[in-house]
Amino acid sequence: MKTRLTCPCGTVITGADEDELVELTQQHLAAEHPGMEYGRDEILFIAT
Ligand SMILES: [Zn+2]
Repeated sequence: MKTRLTCPCGTVITGADEDELVELTQQHLAAEHPGMEYGRDEILFIAT
C-alpha cells in the first residue's frame, strides 16, 4: 500500500492509507498549487 508522496515542491505528504493520502494530496494541491489537479490514479502513481 502506498502511503507517502513527495510533492515536487518538497512537501512530504503521508496518509494512514491510500484513501487518506489521495485526499491529503488533493488538499495540498488545492491550497498550494492552484490549477494543479491530479486524480487518484495519478497520485498513487507518483506515491511510494
Ligand atoms: Zn506541493
